Amino acid sequence: MENGSPRYQDLIASARVHDRALFLPLRTPNELELQARWFAGEFGKNFVSATGDKIDIVQFGTWNREAGPDFCDAAVRVNGSEPLRGCIEIDLVDRNWDLHGHAINPAFEETVLHVFVDKSDRQFFTRTKSNRNVPQVRIDPAILPETFSANIPLARPGRCQAPLGNLPEDRVRSVLDAAAQFRLQKKGARIRAKIDNHGRDEALFQEIAGALGYKENKLPLTLIAQRLSLKALRKDLKDAEAILFGIAGLLETPDLAIYKRSAKNYVRELWDRWWPHRDRLQRLILPAKIWKLSSTRPVNHPQRRLAALAILVQEWPAFRRSLERRTATAIEKFFDAFDHPFWKFHYTMTADASLEPMALVGESRVADILANVIFPFWRAEDACHAEAERRRVDPSTPLGTSVWREYAKLPARLTNRRLETAATRLFGDGPRRREFTKTIAHQQALLQIYEDFCLQDNSDCANCPFPEQMAKWR
Ligand code: SF4
Repeated sequence: MENGSPRYQDLIASARVHDRALFLPLRTPNELELQARWFAGEFGKNFVSATGDKIDIVQFGTWNREAGPDFCDAAVRVNGSEPLRGCIEIDLVDRNWDLHGHAINPAFEETVLHVFVDKSDRQFFTRTKSNRNVPQVRIDPAILPETFSANIPLARPGRCQAPLGNLPEDRVRSVLDAAAQFRLQKKGARIRAKIDNHGRDEALFQEIAGALGYKENKLPLTLIAQRLSLKALRKDLKDAEAILFGIAGLLETPDLAIYKRSAKNYVRELWDRWWPHRDRLQRLILPAKIWKLSSTRPVNHPQRRLAALAILVQEWPAFRRSLERRTATAIEKFFDAFDHPFWKFHYTMTADASLEPMALVGESRVADILANVIFPFWRAEDACHAEAERRRVDPSTPLGTSVWREYAKLPARLTNRRLETAATRLFGDGPRRREFTKTIAHQQALLQIYEDFCLQDNSDCANCPFPEQMAKWR
C-alpha cells in the first residue's frame, strides 16, 4: 500500500483554524443544565461584559471533565479583537469564583470568560491566581424557552459532515488511511527518539509501563519504570515485584491488620523482600498523592497494573520473542498468558478475594499497547531499515508497508470521549460513523484529523479547509 502520510502532511500544512462543541448527559439539574444550555447557544453568542466590552463567543469549547473550568478550548473575541483561546467558567453567582477557590487554583489560570447568573451586592472582579482580570458576562435564564431536552448529543456535527457523507467510500478510506499512517509515523518517531536516548529495551519498558497506567496513572507508572529500569529489576528478579510495589509507595504501612486473611501472606512476603532494599531506594519512593484512584475501575486499579509490570519484567525474554514475530496475535497471546496467584483474584491489596479469575491485562489494554507502543515501535524499526536500504539501493523504497498492513487490520476494542466527539464532528450519526470507527487505524485517523483541524479551528467550521481539501483528495 502506498504510504499516505506525506499526503496527509500536505493536507494539514494547508490548514490552521478551530471549533468544537460537545454535550454530556445531565447528571444533576441547575448549574449543569445552565451549562448545557449555554453550550447549546441558547443564551446567544454575543454579549456585553460587566465593564461594557463587546464579547463574542467564537467557540464554545468542550466540556471539561477534569479539574478546572467548565469548558476548555473555547475562543472569545473582546471588542472585535483576535480570538482569545482558553476556558470558560459558569457559576450561578459571581462570587462562587472565590467561594469555590478558583481564584487561587492554577487550573483556572487559562480562563478567558466568567459567566454567571446572579450578581452579588458588592462589586466583584474575577481574578486568576496570577491576578489577571477575567471578563465577566451575566446571563439571564428568564430568556430561555421553558422546555429543555435532556437528550443532548455529545457533539455537534461539523461542516465536513455533508462532504464526507457524499464522497465515494474509497476516497474517505484513502483520507483516513493517510491520517492514520501519519499518526503511526509520528508515534514511531517519538519511540525512535526514546530508543536513541535509553536503548531499545528500556524505551519499550517505559512505554508499556505508561500504557499500563491508563490516562490517570500514566505518570507514576512511567516514573517507576524510569527510576528502577528494566536492567536493574532483571538483575534482582526474585525481589523485582516487591521493589516495584515498594517504590510505588504501597508498602509503607507496617500494619498487617488492615489486610484480609487471603492477602496477608502475599503482603508479608512483599515486605520481607522490599525491606532490605528500602534504605537504598528510599529517595525514589513515590508520594501517595501521585496515584489517581477516583475514576479508575477496580479491575484497572494501579496495584494490578504494577503486578502486570512485575510479570513483564520476569517474562521479558518471552516478550522479546513475541515482538520478533511481528504479529498482533503474538503480542495478544503474550499478555493473555499473564498469571498471578494473588492478582488473578484481587482488585486491590485490601479487597476481598473475587470468586472469578480476572485477566491481568485485558483485551482493550492490549489493544491500546498495540496501537500506541508496539506498532509504532515496529514502524520505527522499519523506517530505520528502509532508510538504510534506500540509501543503499533504491530511493523509492516505501516505509513500513508490512507494519501498516498488519496495523490496518486491528479491530477497535474501545472508544473514549475524544474519539466519540471526533466521530460526531466528522460523520454525525450517519452510517459512515460506524463504518469508519471499526478499526484502530481509523479511530486513530479520526483523532488525528480532530487534533489537526477541529482543535485548530477558530471559526465554528467556517474557515476550516478540511471539507474543501476533501473534495480535492484523489
Ligand atoms: S474538520 Fe473542520 S469542518 Fe470538520 S468538524 Fe472539524 S473544524 Fe469543522
